[in-house]
Amino acid sequence: MASALSEASALTGLQAPLRAVIERFIGAIAQRKKAKIVLSGAALIIVLKLLLGARSKSRKYVSNLDTAGEPVGASATSTGPLVDTKYDVVVVGGGTAGCALAARLSEDPTIRVLLLEAGGSGAALSESRTPAGYGRLLYNATHVHGLRTEPQLEANGKSMFWPRAKMLGGCSSINAQMAQYGAFGDFNEWAAYIGDPSWSWKNIAQYFRKFEAYQPHPSYPEVDTSARGRDGPVHTGFFNTITPPSRAFVDACVGVGIKRTHDFNGKDGTLGAARIMTYIDKNYRRVSAETAYLTPNVLNRMNLTVAIHATATRVLFDTKTANGRPRAVGVEFGSREGGPTWKVYAKEVVVSGGAVHSPHILMLSGIGPAQQLKSRGITPILDLPGVGQRLVDHPVVDLYFKDKNNLSPKWLKPSSLSDVWKTLGAVFRYHVLGTGGPLAMNFGECAAFVRSDDPVLFPEAEFPDKLVDTSSAPDSPDLELFSTPFAYKEHGKIGFDVHTFALHVYLLRCVW
Ligand SMILES: Cc1cc2nc3c(=O)[nH]c(=O)nc-3n(C[C@H](O)[C@H](O)[C@H](O)COP(=O)(O)OP(=O)(O)OC[C@H]3O[C@@H](n4cnc5c(N)ncnc54)[C@H](O)[C@@H]3O)c2cc1C
Repeated sequence: MASALSEASALTGLQAPLRAVIERFIGAIAQRKKAKIVLSGAALIIVLKLLLGARSKSRKYVSNLDTAGEPVGASATSTGPLVDTKYDVVVVGGGTAGCALAARLSEDPTIRVLLLEAGGSGAALSESRTPAGYGRLLYNATHVHGLRTEPQLEANGKSMFWPRAKMLGGCSSINAQMAQYGAFGDFNEWAAYIGDPSWSWKNIAQYFRKFEAYQPHPSYPEVDTSARGRDGPVHTGFFNTITPPSRAFVDACVGVGIKRTHDFNGKDGTLGAARIMTYIDKNYRRVSAETAYLTPNVLNRMNLTVAIHATATRVLFDTKTANGRPRAVGVEFGSREGGPTWKVYAKEVVVSGGAVHSPHILMLSGIGPAQQLKSRGITPILDLPGVGQRLVDHPVVDLYFKDKNNLSPKWLKPSSLSDVWKTLGAVFRYHVLGTGGPLAMNFGECAAFVRSDDPVLFPEAEFPDKLVDTSSAPDSPDLELFSTPFAYKEHGKIGFDVHTFALHVYLLRCVW
């Protein structure tokens, strides 16, 4: 506004005193408008908290860590002595894998299980349970580790934001809720790498069906339900809300020669274009590993303890074993840096802290490249050079488009009074009427899995350079495009003032 006024006065030769009066007038209006937006925003947050607070029932978690372990005294060392084990298994990290592990292991009442989670409950957070809310969590340091990568050479030296959840359910409590299980060939390739056929798709497919309860949707009768799980704890389906441009994206894909598919996880494999199946239930709520596996019945088990705000600081090892190899015998943990610590012994320790924190915990415990550990003052227990090395994630290239119809739901990030009213309407629809609507969006709406050597999509005349085939099998994709109803940068931190639509291109098979 001020720069527009400067420009106007330069053009019209507006006199200085008159200009000052106009500036003050405009400033006052802007302030009143701002105050109104702030007040409406505050009202919106209160309404949200009231509506959601009433729903989140308190769960049976242990936050008094004296219940989970014993305080560490001067005698605690990494070589024992072994005390009576209170648990059979300690699971470190109550994320996507950890919740499933703790629930499945404790089905046997003779196995005493302790689950240690660094954060609190994800299910208690409205931003997690409401499908469209997770963007508000990604920069919340209480609930998410706001990690950044090392500067990336191939991304112009940029250090990329790389959030990892710190709550029960782990990243399944903050992710985009897209249910995509991967290409058959990728599993077969892993099985071949490690020489273990149990990882092949032929064997692993049964576990995908086992964890899943696909909820058939009347609009998607083409999904072959015989390939979907029916009785598992994780509900999947098409209950998210998607926007017209994403539907048009699928039609456009078919128009350029990508086959239409109905299920990326079906018997025909991953290739094709379709709407994405999601981890959102019939009531339009996120399904996380916590909500699916740590149900009230599971939490009532006498042989399961779930400790929250319990960060494992190291795994304890017995280094005086008969075969000379260190054996994990317990875990040391605390609730805050520099605060008191506790220890607990068990017959087995499972580390499920995720791709970043599992190696971190191992290295803090003395398992990893010996030289690197020594340089950080950690006494190596086992020199394992591969720990903490060669991590690869799938990079994404974002393509932004202006939405000429001005219909994108960018008002979900309110920047005006009318945006706030629209958002209040969406809150009313979602929480009071219970009919989903914009808050049931997960933003990852439709996708296409393709191969970069597909001659129909990339004709040789136009793309003469041959790329290295990085795919795992002839019917496996190496690229994924997915659509979102608006464009954003930095995981949603930065939006656009104008209406937009976006496509995101994932490199599925990174090699270097
Ligand atoms: C922003 C984002 C979007 C994504 N979108 C999708 C998607 O749409 N679809 C999809 O399938 N996948 C998606 N993913 C990936 C998917 O969510 C993860 O691959 C998966 O959740 C990883 O599970 P995990 O059990 O290995 O680790 P996590 O789920 O990360 O769990 C690790 C847990 O360990 C805990 N922990 C760590 N260190 C310690 C410690 N020292 N002591 C105690 N606890 C500890 C953490 O707090 C966390 O709860 C997304 C991921 C992110 C980050």
